[in-house]
Amino acid sequence: MTRGERVYVALGSNMGDRAAHLAHARERLARLPATRLLAASRVEETAPIGPVTQGPYLNQMVLLETGLEPAELLGQLHAIELERGRVRRERWGPRTLDLDIVRWDGRAVQNPDLTIPHPELSNRDFWLREIADLDTEPSPRD
Ligand code: ATP
Ligand code: CA
Ligand code: CA
Repeated sequence: MTRGERVYVALGSNMGDRAAHLAHARERLARLPATRLLAASRVEETAPIGPVTQGPYLNQMVLLETGLEPAELLGQLHAIELERGRVRRERWGPRTLDLDIVRWDGRAVQNPDLTIPHPELSNRDFWLREIADLDTEPSPRD
């Protein structure tokens, strides 16, 4: 594979077997076309965001290298969410698996379906911590 672009993807789960949902997501992301999983942050437990009463989340950030386009990657993320039975009810409601594109090095995207960098990046301390965690980890190819 030719060298791809570096993308940070956030994984979140607060329903069912949360760790299993994250593990499934990591395995699927690593096998996407034209994509490699370079590194994964620690898993963190966080309180839910927003007005809906729900259980705590497990969160993790992964760093991918990909030749996919942003809209293609978003489509793949939605497909992986569906594999874990994700039902889209209300924004910020409970979910088995949530996959967000947080940052894409060298790119900015703004359209009705996709905003990169994710608009909440600077407000979510756990994402900033997880990115810092990834950036200090030696990548497997070095
Ligand atoms: P938040 O985005 O604030 O974390 P959420 O993850 O609960 O909220 P969802 O209901 O999962 O929100 O997604 C709503 C829509 O957001 C998706 O259908 C997708 O089209 C859109 N979206 C826009 N930017 C992004 C992005 N960077 N990553 C993932 N989805 C995005
Ligand atoms: Ca989210
Ligand atoms: Ca989402």
